[in-house]
Amino acid sequence: MMLNRQGRPTAAGEAGTNAHPTFTGNKALAQIEPLIFEIGHHETTGVDLDEPEAFTPRLGGLERKEAIGLPGLSEPEAMRHYVRLSQMNYGIDTGLFPLGSCTMKHNARLNERMARLPGFSDVHPLQPVSTVRGALEVMDELSRYLVTLTNTTTVALSPKAGAHGELCGMMAIKAAIEAKGEGKTRNVVLVPDSAHGTNPATAALIGFTVRPVPARDDGWVHVDDVKKLLGPDVAAIMLTNPNTCGLFENQVVEIAKAIHDAGAYFYCDGANFNAIVGKARPGDLGIDAMHINLHKTFSTPHGGGGPGSGPVVLSARLAPFAPVPFITAENGVLTLVEQAKDATEQPFGRMTAFHGQMGMYVRALTYMLSHGSDGMKQASEDAVLNANYIRASLADLFSQPFGDKPCMHEVLFDDAWLKDTGVTTLDFAKAMIDEGYHPMTMYFPLVVHGAMLIEPTESESKASLDLFIAALRDLAMSAKKGETERFSGAPYHAPRRRLDETRAARTPVLKWTKPAPFAEAAE
Ligand SMILES: *Cc1c(COP(=O)(O)O)cnc(C)c1O
Repeated sequence: MMLNRQGRPTAAGEAGTNAHPTFTGNKALAQIEPLIFEIGHHETTGVDLDEPEAFTPRLGGLERKEAIGLPGLSEPEAMRHYVRLSQMNYGIDTGLFPLGSCTMKHNARLNERMARLPGFSDVHPLQPVSTVRGALEVMDELSRYLVTLTNTTTVALSPKAGAHGELCGMMAIKAAIEAKGEGKTRNVVLVPDSAHGTNPATAALIGFTVRPVPARDDGWVHVDDVKKLLGPDVAAIMLTNPNTCGLFENQVVEIAKAIHDAGAYFYCDGANFNAIVGKARPGDLGIDAMHINLHKTFSTPHGGGGPGSGPVVLSARLAPFAPVPFITAENGVLTLVEQAKDATEQPFGRMTAFHGQMGMYVRALTYMLSHGSDGMKQASEDAVLNANYIRASLADLFSQPFGDKPCMHEVLFDDAWLKDTGVTTLDFAKAMIDEGYHPMTMYFPLVVHGAMLIEPTESESKASLDLFIAALRDLAMSAKKGETERFSGAPYHAPRRRLDETRAARTPVLKWTKPAPFAEAAE
């Protein structure tokens, strides 16, 4: 019998190789779960209502003639179905989630508890303002913190994600340009090659032409390159800082000056603000607009904890164009402004039907208040320290595209070190799944070949980082020794083996048709 390091018996060798196949297909706690359409039938549950007497449909013949076809399960069956599915998922609550650029930080339970207080969670967007003063106070307080931390003039809270915030900030820039009568001439936005895909998409969506700022070998954007691209046709630059290569843009102040001298605006993608909160204020660096991903920087993992929220801070030059609604105090009482009142306010419109993501505001403010200014600063420092700890611990095995220099909150490796091993970045990521880790961000940023972007966040303890590093080192040495089979078929232990991602992308099957036989569905 094989024993593990704690002396407990384990399956011998490769887990599962000596295991008897089970009748159900389940492997103890790892339970097979078919699609709900395969196990549920609409006849099995629901409420039987008596046929109404003398009922004449008033839908003019458009009423449904056949069964609706929704699957039905009893309550325990429905609960098991979703709980089992949730157990197949990987989440920040089950393990380290090193997804670079996504900031999968721990969502403190305190923040969740506050967001679920009935006064916040049950608040309705159509309630009279006089009944939601507490909610307005949360929004106002959060706004003050965001403006203070960034040293800007105002903030538009309502955007519902980072990309939505980009749209908001760029619309404010467009409105400012139009107000100056330059709407026809300034139609170009500079976007560095290393930018998140949402940046050029945002600029293009509202009618700007994207002019790329070419990448350099050192990973930084250079003011000389920006100056060469500037002209009377340039409306703005969209620059990420810290950038997607995990580096602080060391010429950001000079770039801001050059942009302003050319009469353009500086949009900063602030999704990586979590690396500098309490250390640097973007307003001091010359930004005019920046979205903040509350879900990344101030509690809540990206995409993993419910809705996002992307407030946009604005400089004095853009503040008059901030969208409605916003909050003001009238005779000491907070109220929502839904329409511009005087000529100093020229809101470009509104981003959302109502007021944004209340739950995210509460989580973010709870995070801020429970950390305090010193705690927020330490979170940034710890995030950067953790990323550099991983960088330094892997630097002898993994190659870094921009030389062995310190990173910010995320460390970027490329695939040069995998050359001639027969293992690709994708294979390596899949093998990480077998080791119980969510893969790091792969193939982004695009400027780096075979990119592996790792962001541990401040949430991870040293013990957790050490195990992660040891696992990556073990995999790396395996790859270098030519043990390709550990990678080529990975993941071996996940509920689903490697999927044909090309086929899934090219010919996606978006509609469920008929139940596949059980064994086939499990392949
Ligand atoms: C996450 C991210 C975004 C987009 O944020 P969403 O909330 O996912 O829309 C934009 N830019 C960068 C650099 C990011 O990391």
